[in-house]
Amino acid sequence: MAATKRSRKYVYSFGGGKADGNESMKNLLGGKGANLAEMAGHPALRLPVPPGFTITTEVCTYYYDHGRSYPRELRPQLETALQKMETLTGKKFGDEVNPLLVSVRSGARKSMPGMMETVLNVGLCEKTLKGLIARSGDERFVYDAYRRLIMMYADVVMEKAGGIEPSSKGNHTKGIRKILDEKLEQVKQSRGYKSDTELTAGELKQLVRQFKKTVKDVLGAEFPDDPMKQLWGGVGAVFSSWNGKRAIEYRRIEKIPDEWGTAVNVQAMVFGNMGEDCCTGVAFTRNPGSGENRFYGEYLVNAQGEDVVAGTRTPAPVNEYSKNAQSEQATTLEKLMPGTYKELFGYQRRLEKHYHDMQDIEFTVEKGRLYMLQCRVGKRNGIAAVRMATEMHKEKLIDAATAVRRVAPNQLIELLLPMLDPRVEQIQAVIAKGLPAGPGGARGRAVFSSADAVAWAAKGEKVILVREETSPEDVDGMHKSQAILTSKGGMTSHAALVARGWGKCCIVGCGDLEIHDDARFFQATNGTIIKEGDWISLNGSKGTVYEGSLPLVDVDIEKNQSYKDLMKLVDRIKVMGVRANAETPADAANALKFGAEGIGLFRTEHMFYGEGSEQPLFLLRKMIVSKTEEERRSALNELFTYVKKDIKDTLQVMNGYPVTVRLLDPPLHEFVPHDKEKLKMLSRELGISMSVLRRRVLALHENNPMLGHRGVRLGISYPEITEMQVRAILEASAELIRAGKKALPEIMIPVTCTVNELTHQRKVVDRVYKEVCAKMKMRRIPYLYGTMIETPRAAIRAQQMAEQAEFFSYGTNDLTQMSFGFSRDDIGGFLPKYLDLKILPEDPFQTIDQDGVGKLVLDGVRLGRRVKPGLKVGICGEHGGDPESVKFFNRIGLNYVSCSPFRVPIARLAAAQAALETRK
Ligand code: PEP
Ligand code: MG
Repeated sequence: MAATKRSRKYVYSFGGGKADGNESMKNLLGGKGANLAEMAGHPALRLPVPPGFTITTEVCTYYYDHGRSYPRELRPQLETALQKMETLTGKKFGDEVNPLLVSVRSGARKSMPGMMETVLNVGLCEKTLKGLIARSGDERFVYDAYRRLIMMYADVVMEKAGGIEPSSKGNHTKGIRKILDEKLEQVKQSRGYKSDTELTAGELKQLVRQFKKTVKDVLGAEFPDDPMKQLWGGVGAVFSSWNGKRAIEYRRIEKIPDEWGTAVNVQAMVFGNMGEDCCTGVAFTRNPGSGENRFYGEYLVNAQGEDVVAGTRTPAPVNEYSKNAQSEQATTLEKLMPGTYKELFGYQRRLEKHYHDMQDIEFTVEKGRLYMLQCRVGKRNGIAAVRMATEMHKEKLIDAATAVRRVAPNQLIELLLPMLDPRVEQIQAVIAKGLPAGPGGARGRAVFSSADAVAWAAKGEKVILVREETSPEDVDGMHKSQAILTSKGGMTSHAALVARGWGKCCIVGCGDLEIHDDARFFQATNGTIIKEGDWISLNGSKGTVYEGSLPLVDVDIEKNQSYKDLMKLVDRIKVMGVRANAETPADAANALKFGAEGIGLFRTEHMFYGEGSEQPLFLLRKMIVSKTEEERRSALNELFTYVKKDIKDTLQVMNGYPVTVRLLDPPLHEFVPHDKEKLKMLSRELGISMSVLRRRVLALHENNPMLGHRGVRLGISYPEITEMQVRAILEASAELIRAGKKALPEIMIPVTCTVNELTHQRKVVDRVYKEVCAKMKMRRIPYLYGTMIETPRAAIRAQQMAEQAEFFSYGTNDLTQMSFGFSRDDIGGFLPKYLDLKILPEDPFQTIDQDGVGKLVLDGVRLGRRVKPGLKVGICGEHGGDPESVKFFNRIGLNYVSCSPFRVPIARLAAAQAALETRK
């Protein structure tokens, strides 16, 4: 039998209760396409979705691989799919009598709100106009749709996709959309109209004529009056918008691979702007701001879909629950169209049950008939994510594993996010109030454009971006800002959506503000004027704006029941331990509150920085500049009391959880005083002259201190330093144990490179141990002796290191530094370029370099456990708080990760997710 080669399927139809694709085909159909197919075709749903088809992401890949051309099979497949739409709608594309109009939209695997292009009303031209007027009986509506098409098409297809840049010459100094917008505004102004809806059919007709002429004059080409040409133009524009500036920026921020490409969705148009019995809206099956299980949404009467998302008109609430201060008086959809609301309410319940997750829905009502235009898993902030996950678990909609997977570890930051200090906030005058679109508090200097936000942030300033509304062009500036404040738009506007996705503090629809972005200031209704650079503070959970820089305070996480519920599930699932890096009793208590199961890194030297460090630092300096062992021992004796107290207090707070105390690590010259007064004091104390002291200080200078006299090298040069610290650790423990308390210290030797260093230090430890046991009259004091693995050599020689060490703790900060040969403190000069050019995929100091540094860790763990099968291995570099790295460390079998107390919940959640991944 001769095999006929089946051509590849590039076009997937949906509509009329059927669909070629389904929800599981996101990679091929994009999120939007896959969900449209599911809504239209799944037997449990079969919702009223306008028919259409999806052109696959493979075509996008092909398009870019083949000089922006299409596979041969695409045209016939597209034509067949178009015919199907015609059959289902009873209309015909390009027909004079009963024309079909379509929308052309992008749809990537992962939603990229507003980052790519859309063209609506495609198929409208001089020829089809008349038929549509006759059918709809509404000339005004048709001309309005036509002028929208010309605007969008000229902007998206002819200018942006055509690669025509506005130039400083001639009449094309700004984008065509702006030029056409101004023409529209001129007509409105000359007639004294406030809203577009006041324009008459005649005026719109004239405007269309003007638009066409302007397009020709400015762009040098005619607006194509041929429906098929428009359709292909639209398809091409969507594909080329995948590589538009803002899409690329957004992908970079969201880490979406460039290779994914977008699909294109072509769908029969339905109109929410055909009169007062029409509307369009966006809704969520649960409140995306708080997570509450209530149907929440907004709509606009007599409007097209883009109007809601664009935030140009403040929408009305779909029901009483969705009302806010600004929409108190507005008529709800439930009141205005009770039947339609009921139908919509039923669909949203069905969708959530079907998808087992909160859905974000777009709908349109055309002449009283409801259409579902889109559904997707709704973006939510961290607070809502935690609440939804735990409540859905309680409702038995999802199992525990799914609940744990539902929250991105970094989203937990929002629950721990500082708020404006309520005591200060209480006595502060609110200068404006808007909608609370992104929780938490923020303060920053007001800036009025995305470009300014980027520029100010680059100078290290904290800024708040203030705009009438944001558009996808603003993403970069939004990302760099502490918070976003807009005067227009609702909870589903672009700013709200994007801020929610990032967990950023955000207030939208703040109608109390009059923003003059050209002059760079805003005025609140109470008369307050805020100019560029002035400080403002926002409470994103309440929607209140204040003048000045209000203090921020931490939240009490223990009061959040959903968080506690989630963490209970997390702890049931996770296997790997999570500890904290902490060196004060207060930090240790914090760490415990966040769920740490020990301290993985107590950096002894922290007692010499900051508050209360004056005296210990002085003693340390005395020790450093000592010349003889005797001098040094005398200084160390004085220092001993301080070191012991610090360690004892922390051990006591940790109450039997292990505390890994790292012996002194930094190069000594870091502590040497440079100011005259301090030097004088030292010289007096030591009984030496200033010139002798200066000489001693000078002698400590090193060319490359990070590779110099630091870490274990100090203990080898001056065993008495090790001795004092070990004595402090063991005595502190012994005293606690004798007092009936628990203590479990782990003595950790830093920056080792050979086992001989460990053998050397071990002798000191053993001797001191015996002395302390004798002094305290104890037979045994529990402790472990181990090493950090921070140098590549130590990692490679892990098998030998394990002969002496009872545990390893990977110091991945130094290990990364020494593996790459990148100074931790000097990467700013070259790393941005490396990331830009994709020479490195990520900052290796933030996310572990699995192939290189990670390989050293993996091999070391194996080698070490060859000698000691039960060898305890942890990591205490910054990577311990990075979710991706935590997952890697779980995979390679570490016993624990250790990170800053604040990141402990994040690491715990990441560890649980990692455990689920390995379970699969
Ligand atoms: C490390 O090097 O990873 C580490 C934890 O030590 P420090 O950052 O103090 O050098
Ligand atoms: Mg280190």
